[in-house]
Amino acid sequence: MTPSELQSLFASLKVWHGNGWRAPHKPLLALWAIGRCLRHEARLAPYHEVAHELEGLLRRFGPPRKRISPDLPFWHLQRDGVWEIPEADRVTETKSGHAHVTSLRREGARGGLPADVFQVLRQDRVTALDIVHSLLDSHFPVTLHDDILSAVGINTGHVDSDVLNFDDREGSGTGQDFEQVRRRSRDPSFSKKVLDAYREQCAVCSFSVRLHDAPVALDAAHIKWHRAGGRDRDKVSNGLSLCALHHRLFDAGAFTLSPKYTVIASSEAAGSGRNQFLEQFSRRPILLPERTDDYPDHRSLKWHQREVFGPIVEGVDY
Ligand SMILES: [Zn+2]
Repeated sequence: MTPSELQSLFASLKVWHGNGWRAPHKPLLALWAIGRCLRHEARLAPYHEVAHELEGLLRRFGPPRKRISPDLPFWHLQRDGVWEIPEADRVTETKSGHAHVTSLRREGARGGLPADVFQVLRQDRVTALDIVHSLLDSHFPVTLHDDILSAVGINTGHVDSDVLNFDDREGSGTGQDFEQVRRRSRDPSFSKKVLDAYREQCAVCSFSVRLHDAPVALDAAHIKWHRAGGRDRDKVSNGLSLCALHHRLFDAGAFTLSPKYTVIASSEAAGSGRNQFLEQFSRRPILLPERTDDYPDHRSLKWHQREVFGPIVEGVDY
C-alpha cells in the first residue's frame, strides 16, 4: 500500500451527516489507533479497552449526546478499510447491522488497524502525521487540535503541519491535497471582515490589545464550524471576533450564545478561572457589530448549541 493510497483511505471516512450533524466517532477512533501505532504499542486492543478510551474521547470532543455508543465506530470502521476485527466472524449482529455489544465482549473481539496499514504508518512517520493532520483539519477546528493530539497521545514533534515541506512531496499527491486542506481552513478575508465588524475587540470580554498597530491574540471564530459546511460559512454572520481564550472556550463548548446574543456558560465548566472568564459574562450581551446583517446568524447559533455546547436552559428557542 502506497502513502497516497493510505491518505485517500483515511480521507474518505464518511462522517458528516445531513444538516450539519456531527459524527466524529470514526476519525477519533482512527486517530486513537494511529496514536498507538506511533507509540509502538500492540496493533490490536480488546473491545473493552477501545470502548473505554473512545468513550472518553467522544465525551470531550464529540457532539453532546445523551447516549455514547463506542461499539458503533468499533464495528463499522471495518467497512472503511482502516480497521480490522479478527474475531468479526464470530460476532453476531442486530437487525440493523450493528454488533451486539454482549457478543463483542463474549467473543473477546479485538480491533486495530489492518496489518498492512499499520506497517506503512509505523515505517513512514511523515505519512502518518500527514494523515493525522488531515483528519484533524477535516473534522475539528484548529483550536481543538492540540488537545485532541495530547488525548490520543500523538506527539507531532517538530514535523508541524505548517512546516512540512510540501515541495519534497510533489508528485505523490498527498502533500498537495494536504496543502489544499490547510488553505481551505484559513480564509484571511473572513478574518479581516469579522474583526473589522467587531471593531477588533473580543465580543465577550472586549479584549483588544494591539502590538505594532495590529491586534494580537484576537481571532475570527466560526460559529458553525468551517468543517460542518454550509453555504454561508464564511459570512460575517457565521463569525465572532473572540480573544484566543474565548475562542478556545467557545469551540470546546464551555459557553454558547442565546438567540438574544447573551453568553450562556456551561454548567459543566469548573475550576479556577471559571468565574473570571465565564461566569462574569454569563447572561450578559456580547458586543455586536454595527450592521444587523453581521449579527450572529441564528441557524449557526442553533448548530453550535446542538453540536458543541449541549442541552441548553429551557425557554431558549432559536
Ligand atoms: Zn475574550
